[in-house]
Amino acid sequence: MFDSKVHLIRSDEFKEEDFSQVVNLLKQFNGPIEFISAETKYLQSAPPVLSWMTKLEFEKKNPPQFSANREQISPTYSMFESTPKKSIVFPVEVPSLSWDTFFAACIDYRMKHQIPEKDLVILLTDFSNDKNWFAGIDSTMKNYFIQTSNWHHFLGNSIDSRFPIAYEIVVWLLRSQMFQNRQEIMDCVHKGSTGCMMDFCENKKDIVLKMRTADICNDCLKVIQNREVDRPFARQVLDSMDGIRQHMMFRERSEFLNSPSKMEIRGFMKHIFLKDLGDLEIHLNPKEKTIYLFFLNHPEGVRIVDLIDHKTEISHFYETFTNSFETAQIAQAINLLLDPTEGNINQVLSRIRAKFRSAVGSRLANFYTIEGNPGDPFKIHLNRELVTIEKISHH
Ligand SMILES: [Zn+2]
Repeated sequence: MFDSKVHLIRSDEFKEEDFSQVVNLLKQFNGPIEFISAETKYLQSAPPVLSWMTKLEFEKKNPPQFSANREQISPTYSMFESTPKKSIVFPVEVPSLSWDTFFAACIDYRMKHQIPEKDLVILLTDFSNDKNWFAGIDSTMKNYFIQTSNWHHFLGNSIDSRFPIAYEIVVWLLRSQMFQNRQEIMDCVHKGSTGCMMDFCENKKDIVLKMRTADICNDCLKVIQNREVDRPFARQVLDSMDGIRQHMMFRERSEFLNSPSKMEIRGFMKHIFLKDLGDLEIHLNPKEKTIYLFFLNHPEGVRIVDLIDHKTEISHFYETFTNSFETAQIAQAINLLLDPTEGNINQVLSRIRAKFRSAVGSRLANFYTIEGNPGDPFKIHLNRELVTIEKISHH
């Protein structure tokens, strides 16, 4: 029976929002694996850099040399720049740490929080590593790291990096139950590219095939059977791999077919989720959410100059979402928002646009954003049959 907990640790440089999206995606699949999210600041913030001269080298799983005592990260390229995603320009310097440093961070976390030995600890970090692998496991088979950066280089900009990160997490969990030690893993990996989750992908670009098929070959299924991997555990991993693949494909297909995902508005605070895109949450601040939900309620559209006529409805939303308890402060914020000469509303609309674009890409974003020509009614074009608003019972 699988009864260990899986601790997902966000290293400081991995964006908090992306981290919570990965955890949220993984929690959608039912089974015995319980994910616990945690944080660490143990890794140094500006590690030494590895230099890759060419794209070809960068895409291989073998290490270049650490540059001698370089303290500064090349200012021409920041690997943390996620939007807009720029192509990597070679030669490139990438901040990197050794595998041992990552595992030491996992062990520090274990000691500090008295984590039971049987639990698994997975460090998620933007830093690259001395072997240039996507992920790695230590000799105890209990500590892992997964690189969270640079996925767009291998998978293209249309794929949300939540998917490969979540995929790597579940695949390494499966390996931890299939094999006793690292040598066994290396003995079983497929050198060629077969589309199985055990493909080694020495050429890192081959990961695309593995992710698209999200498959396990018969040989690997036999290992799962012979090693008596816990069935509910295996089912959760396989469901996750399959679900991740479907969500990933949904986005590609929906861009192609120009059809958007269902939207769900949940809870008292009206959290916005795009259901078919792996339950992707769109984080809006109080003003943005106020305006967004107002327009969602008005499929017929409303002219910007007429927003003032809906002040009661808009204020009601804002009072729910704002952190402020000061009536005067709230009134001031609403007046500023509804005064078309102030330009505040336009800022809010364009921030909403930017958030949807970065979440779903510019093609699909147009379904969700609030659009209109100056002087005409503004509206959200999303078919309201795709929108579910959870009913909240008031006590
Ligand atoms: Zn296989």
